[in-house]
Order: sequence, then structure tokens, then C-alpha cells
Amino acid sequence: MGDVDFAEFPGLGERLVSVRQGIADACRSAARDPEEVTLIVVTKFHPAALVAALAQLGVRDVGENRHQEAQAKAEELAALELDWHFIGQLQTKKARQAARYASAIHSIDRERLVDALATAEVDRPVEAFVQVNLTDDPGRGGAAPDEIERIAERVLETPALRLRGVMAVAPLPEEEPPASAFARLRDYSERLRRLDPEATAISAGMTHDYPEAVAAGATHLRIGSAITGKRPDPR
Ligand SMILES: *Cc1c(COP(=O)(O)O)cnc(C)c1O
Repeated sequence: MGDVDFAEFPGLGERLVSVRQGIADACRSAARDPEEVTLIVVTKFHPAALVAALAQLGVRDVGENRHQEAQAKAEELAALELDWHFIGQLQTKKARQAARYASAIHSIDRERLVDALATAEVDRPVEAFVQVNLTDDPGRGGAAPDEIERIAERVLETPALRLRGVMAVAPLPEEEPPASAFARLRDYSERLRRLDPEATAISAGMTHDYPEAVAAGATHLRIGSAITGKRPDPR
């Protein structure tokens, strides 16, 4: 990647600074050390050039939710050595390929996906987050809470993966306030830590609910539109 044309992305740097400030404020309110919190900038549907501009602004962690798009961007920007976080539904048949570019997969929601990842050829273990569904609607993605231990045990048996923690998307605010949903996620995180004391990570918090997520102990925030601006329509 050559020079980045920031004029293509007006306001990007300002929005990044303002979200970083918002995270610092939320940490202060929660008496937490901002060093414990990783900002993942979600760049889905945006061009690779926007990711390159973010890298120039100091971003190292980026999130993508579709395999083909993520793979193409990771390949194009390989020289930047970014950490790619896969945060979307992952098809079993794409799992091995995703493990090649993704540092972390936040959407581990079934044992079959773990088994598929077990056959991936990786030179370092991929960080694995067990995604939990915080609603009663199975269509929302994520494992039912009573499946957490079974999936996590399977991850622990898999050398290609390293169990990091739990991940969730909050329900719509009219369904349940984020603070109460994130409190349940924290309980699930404690259950996971009983299996593996090192699996301390909590991936939660998006543009509209990241302060609540920080208050509930989130360690990985996945923030998109507050930084990138409005997403283009998916292609
Ligand atoms: C798109 C997406 C985000 C970021 O959403 P914003 O509201 O734009 O911050 C976070 N997590 C997941 C799983 C997503 O798909």
C-alpha cells in the first residue's frame, strides 16, 4: 500500500479520537485500566483503502464479518501485519481458510466449527471466543448458554485454537437494556474461567452500547460505524 489519501475518508481521524476518548471515559467511570480494553475497528463493507487509512492512524485490530471480503482485504493489506478478527457467522467449510488470516475468531458457536478449525494449518494458535446468544431467538447467532462448556472443552482439546473468552451481541435495547444483558454475559465468562482461568476475555460492545460493555467488564470492543461512518450497502 502506498500513500493513504485521507481526503477520501473525511472525519475518520476525528471519529477515531472521539471513540478512543469515549472508551477512556467509560474506563474511568468503571474504575478500569484502559490497557485492559482492546478496540477492534469493524471495517465490514468498507474498502481496503479505509483499513489502510486506519492503520496509518495507529489501528492494529480490525473486525470483519464475511469470509470472502475479509480474506481479500487481509491479502491486499498483508504487508501492514494487522490483526484480523473474524466476528461473523462462519460456515464450517470456510473455517480452515479463515484460520489462515484471522488472529482471532469471535464467532465459535458450535462443536462442528471447532472440529473444522482443528484441521487448519496454522503457524500459531487462533484466538477463540465462544459466541453466546443473549436472546431466546436461535436465529440471532451464538450458542445457547447451556452449550458454553461443551464448546469450550472442545476448543481446549484443539491445538490450533487458544480459548480466549466469550463473545456476544446485545439484544435490541427495546428487548432488554444492554447493561442487564452484559451482566449475564459476565456470568457466562465466569463459568468459562472455571474451565480455564486464562479464558478471561469478554468481546462485547458496539457503537451504541460500548460504555455499558466497558462497565460490565468487556475486554474487546467491536466498534464500526462510530469510527468508519455509515456503512456502504453490502455488495
Ligand atoms: C457490524 C458488527 C459490529 C459493529 O457494529 P457498529 O454498530 O457499527 O459498531 C460489531 N459486532 C458484530 C458482530 C458486527 O457484525
